[in-house]
Amino acid sequence: MTLGRAALYLATAAGLGLLLRTLLKGPVPLWIALGAFFAYLAVAAAGVFFPRLQMFTRAVSRGSSKVPRIALTFDDGPHPVHTPKVLDALERAGARATFFVIGCKVQDHPEIAAEIVRRGHEIGIHSLVHDRLLAARSGKRIVADLEAAREAVRKATGQTPTLFRPPVGVTSPRVEEAVNKLGLTVVAWSVRGYDGLRGARPDKVARRIATSLRPGSIVLMHDAAERGDDEPAGVGALPAVLDAIASTKLEAVVVSELIEEEGT
Ligand SMILES: [Zn+2]
Repeated sequence: MTLGRAALYLATAAGLGLLLRTLLKGPVPLWIALGAFFAYLAVAAAGVFFPRLQMFTRAVSRGSSKVPRIALTFDDGPHPVHTPKVLDALERAGARATFFVIGCKVQDHPEIAAEIVRRGHEIGIHSLVHDRLLAARSGKRIVADLEAAREAVRKATGQTPTLFRPPVGVTSPRVEEAVNKLGLTVVAWSVRGYDGLRGARPDKVARRIATSLRPGSIVLMHDAAERGDDEPAGVGALPAVLDAIASTKLEAVVVSELIEEEGT
């Protein structure tokens, strides 16, 4: 059992205990009832927004800490200008990475998706249109979305992705059902550069990532903005991040390779 799920069960048991006490001995003071309600909401919200907790959906957030390897991941592309820059920087450093692509952007730029694969990198899906509320949709709709995103990648690259990163990292029991049905592995992260935020600066992003790198890290960056054509700070930060990886003697591999032996 994951720690996140244990926390959810514990919170649920505490809530039921409080209910039982109310039935047997009369209502508890209002502040206790309200406090318990909001505490439960906070626990559940943490599970929704932090996939690493694996409260609702099993997710991989890092690889083995015993092997000097890490995985760089890039979300929200492909983009016809920014993604090639990322590919060139990776090539110069001899690094491989995993791109979590948005299905409709793959439909718009299939040649960029194909180029990602041609250069030896890996593609996972990041939903069809980056619906931020995807985890709250019906199971049927989530499955249809992921199938369409997967099909877009298959058409562009000839490969069928097996990795999925949920939009804004939000998960739910329905996401768990959908990924089980489609045989997808949910990939979270252990290090993030916050490079997609407005006003993010490449030097700060690079420093934040460089100081957090450990063997087994899965690093979240962006090769495109969620919407629009702005260049994420991660693109400018990438050369410094790659220098930091080289100087710490870590090898940047694709996610499936990082997690193949020991992943949690
Ligand atoms: Zn995203």
